[in-house]
Formats: sequence, C-alpha cells, structure tokens
Amino acid sequence: MESGKLLVFSAPSGSGKTTLVHHLLAQGLPLEFSISATSRPPRAHEVDGKDYYFLSPTVFQEKIKTHAFVEYEEVYEGLFYGTLKSELERIWTIGKHGIFDIDVQGGLNIKKHYPQQTLTLFIQPPSIAALEERLQQRGTETPESLQQRVAKAAEELAFADQFDVVIVNDNLEDAKKEVFERVSTFLKS
Ligand code: 5GP
Repeated sequence: MESGKLLVFSAPSGSGKTTLVHHLLAQGLPLEFSISATSRPPRAHEVDGKDYYFLSPTVFQEKIKTHAFVEYEEVYEGLFYGTLKSELERIWTIGKHGIFDIDVQGGLNIKKHYPQQTLTLFIQPPSIAALEERLQQRGTETPESLQQRVAKAAEELAFADQFDVVIVNDNLEDAKKEVFERVSTFLKS
C-alpha cells in the first residue's frame, strides 16, 4: 500500500474518545494507532513508544525546526503534541490505515493535508458537566489542569460542525457501534 486511509478522532479531553479508539482497534480491522510525540511527562502506566513518543521540550523544538512533524500543537500551555512524518511512513509501510487520537485543531490539519483519504470523527460529550465529572473520576488531573481541560473543551465544542462525523457519547455501547459502522463503511469506499 503506497498510502492508506486516516481516521482522525478528536474530542475534548474526558469525552470517552480513547475508550472508543481502543474498542475500534480491537475489531480486527487493518488499523494501526498513530503514536504521537509529546513534550509532557509520562503518566503512571504510560509507556514510551506505545502511548506516546515522550520527547524532552528541547528535542521536540528541534523536530519542529527540522520539519519532522505533519502537524503539531501547543495543546496546553507549554505542552506540545504532534504527529511525526516518520509515524505515517511506519503505518503505511506495514500496509495499514492510521488511527489518530488528537486534538481538534490537529485533526482538522490532518484532513487539510490528506483531504481524500481522511475521515474525521468528533466525539462529543453529552455536556460540559458530564465531562468535568468524568475527568474527576479519572483522577489524573490536578484542580488546575482539570479546569484548563474543561475550559479548552468548551472552546473545542464549537468546532464539531467542521468534522465529517459527530458522535454524541451519551451511551458508550451505542457510540461503539456507530463508530464501527462509520469506519467500516469509509474503509470500503
Ligand atoms: P493527554 O495529555 O490527555 O494525553 O492529551 C491531551 C490532548 O492532546 C488530547 O486532546 C489529545 O487528543 C491531544 N493530542 C495527542 N496527540 C496529539 C497530536 O499528535 N497532535 C495534536 N494536535 N494533538 C494531540
């Protein structure tokens, strides 16, 4: 395969996007998770080269300068995330389609670069209050970073209508089915 398709999942932090992505990856489709690079430190249980390529802020900046990224964003203040060109090559070389768990702006940028072969999916939380509750239950955030994520989520919701597909995640089983159907249809097209 010279270049496969790209499935971009974007959503505010805490919308259940990662759960949906993991579910889709377990369905036996020829998909490969696109591992992003980030300058944020790993959380407990996160593995370098599996969850992210964890880069120091200096190395991340060097890679920006040498145009190693397809797209990158300063998603939170001082914290950079991006998709490396080498990662797309890795996925296409093994004959798979890429699946991306990236922020709204990054998702739209991927679509801009590869308009024909990309399907963008926006996973919408039922409400900002529901999202705040999920983030609290997840227990990965400090009060400050939680507020930062909630504020960013409110901004990101305004971008939903620029995506090919919007999935409201109020019932996880329904959302899983809808994602699978939409993606299977797109891969056959
Ligand atoms: P987290 O810190 O929770 O792992 O991720 C924070 C945010 O960064 C999420 O919204 C996630 O989708 C986004 N993100 C992860 N990887 C990338 C990437 O490669 N590019 C962009 N633009 N955003 C990313």
